[in-house]
Amino acid sequence: MTDTKSGTRAEIETGMSLDARYAAVKERVEAAARRAGRDPSRVILIAVTKYAELDDIKRLVELGHRDFGENRVQQLTQRAAMIEEQLRRRKTLSGTAGEEVEVEMPRWHMIGTLQRNKAKQVVECTRLIHSVDSMRLAEELQSIGLKREQRIDVLIQVNVSGEESKFGCPVPAAEPLAAAMESMAYLRVRGLMTMAPYSEDPEQARPYFSRLRDLYEDMAKLDLGDGAFNLLSMGMSGDFEAAIEEGANLVRVGSAIFGEREVEDAG
Ligand SMILES: *Cc1c(COP(=O)(O)O)cnc(C)c1O
Repeated sequence: MTDTKSGTRAEIETGMSLDARYAAVKERVEAAARRAGRDPSRVILIAVTKYAELDDIKRLVELGHRDFGENRVQQLTQRAAMIEEQLRRRKTLSGTAGEEVEVEMPRWHMIGTLQRNKAKQVVECTRLIHSVDSMRLAEELQSIGLKREQRIDVLIQVNVSGEESKFGCPVPAAEPLAAAMESMAYLRVRGLMTMAPYSEDPEQARPYFSRLRDLYEDMAKLDLGDGAFNLLSMGMSGDFEAAIEEGANLVRVGSAIFGEREVEDAG
């Protein structure tokens, strides 16, 4: 548990409170959307919780935030369950006898590499899987969807930079993969996701974002995902403004909200 007097990790490390960081990121997201001539309400900020304390996640929920992302399956399932329980308890407390109070549940996004043997757990608690990059994973998800009679929304992760360390399918493979997934009745391809190579300078990331946007626009003509191919997930703490300017409508921001990571983590 975090001691409120000494502050959360994010505060200690930066001298700025979580509330202030969150507000600042939201403002920057909105300003970038406006600069690009787009409606700020159409850009969704996903708070990436991989280095966050549970108390910090709870605080964002208190502030009304609902979209959260995780890249590790165990953390995702545990945290999704804990936050949901917190909200259900609040619902019970705030509703007087017999009266149901509407509380909007969080939407969890799986943004990390997904192994097939963990796919079922993830499907049970996520709204959108950003990291589908192979036929084998797509087929696994299709069979899970069939068993659960649940349609699964996914993005195709594309390795735009061609870096070997990056996951995602190669650019030329994205369209054939999407076409194959169209025949899987329980999968709905909602769009594309990428990660730009790490750099201190967001301008270095921009060409990768614009390349993915071009691919996205080409694929949008194919009438994929029952007409719901409309999501473009790109941009992280260091480059989300460039990503929005290049067309992103989902940005995945962790350290700019929750504080810098303590340890370098390859994941
Ligand atoms: C960790 C992570 C992010 C967020 O990274 P920050 O630089 O902390 O904002 C976004 N996307 C993916 C896939 C990640 O793993």
